[in-house]
Amino acid sequence: MTIYVTKSFLPPFEEYAEIVRKVWDNGILTNHGPCVKELEAKLKDFIGTQNLYYVTNGTIALQLALSALDITEGEIITTPFSYVATTSSILWERCKPVFVDIEPHNFTIDADKIEAAITPNTKAIMAVHVFGYACNVEKIQQIADKHGLKVIYDGAHAFASRYKGKSLLNYGDISTLSFHATKLFHTIEGGACIIKNKEVADKLDLRRRFGHTGDNHYSLGINGKQSEFHAAMGLANFPYISDIIRKRKQVCNLYDNLLQGLIKRPAAQEGLEYNYAYYPVVFKSEAELLKVFAALNAQDIYPRRYFYPSLNNLPYLVDKQSCPVSEDISSRVACLPLYPTLAEQDIEKICKIIKEVL
Ligand SMILES: *Cc1c(COP(=O)(O)O)cnc(C)c1O
Repeated sequence: MTIYVTKSFLPPFEEYAEIVRKVWDNGILTNHGPCVKELEAKLKDFIGTQNLYYVTNGTIALQLALSALDITEGEIITTPFSYVATTSSILWERCKPVFVDIEPHNFTIDADKIEAAITPNTKAIMAVHVFGYACNVEKIQQIADKHGLKVIYDGAHAFASRYKGKSLLNYGDISTLSFHATKLFHTIEGGACIIKNKEVADKLDLRRRFGHTGDNHYSLGINGKQSEFHAAMGLANFPYISDIIRKRKQVCNLYDNLLQGLIKRPAAQEGLEYNYAYYPVVFKSEAELLKVFAALNAQDIYPRRYFYPSLNNLPYLVDKQSCPVSEDISSRVACLPLYPTLAEQDIEKICKIIKEVL
């Protein structure tokens, strides 16, 4: 049987159907219906925030974040080691991504290198809690305060990661989430913004629904509204969050045991309660990675090169910026299959193949 890097969690069908039955009964399909409101309330409680808005996906969440902070031009300091949506959202909002290289030990933006990249045009820092590991949130906030910059965290991987006793999503001016089917907690497609300031939150709320209330048009907006069917999936998945994380942890622990000493792993920082969102491993070279991939693929096992290429090398960027650490890590990092139902014998098989190649 084919093993992919991930497999979407699905709740028991009847539990989803029961929620969808209520959608049928009340006839409201979208425009912030009861399921969306209930999911937002549950997520606020889970994350510990007053201001959370459920939107269509994690990319729109990033774009709305820039818009709600009134950033419509200028430079955004960001990380080259992420999914392409981090960079594309900056470009789509007509800003310029300025890449700052990453920390080699946990792949997040290297806070010590941020100040050197600040210019009079810098508006914000958009960092990523990549794979659920925490950025240096204290240092980043310090720099932002000193230079009057906004801080946006792409927290697409950070759902349920906690740092120093609170959700990692409560740092910065705005944090965003993705609830895409491949993420730890999903609503098939979906995303959210967690916002510190109430005024910014109101602006974001307005702009996710075309910027108008009734016939009063206040600002440019977009369609960031999410349907009741997506919210229903979120409500059905919600009770399983701790179960999902517990099982992922078991998979990670087994990988740790079987691959101990064989392969390099990122180091989570002190104070982080990790969410086990991904299992990244760093090979010695790209050649070694490709050899392991060939051996696994031959057995119908498909890990993924997360993240490759380093985003500073996207072909449609106007000027080339160099990020040697990210380029090096990107060339030899991969995520091994990780999902709650991944069987122990499959994990053993994967590790055996890796061991044989190495
Ligand atoms: C998945 C992901 C996104 C985009 O989320 P979508 O919901 O797919 O739009 C953004 N950033 C990161 C780091 C991601 O992994």
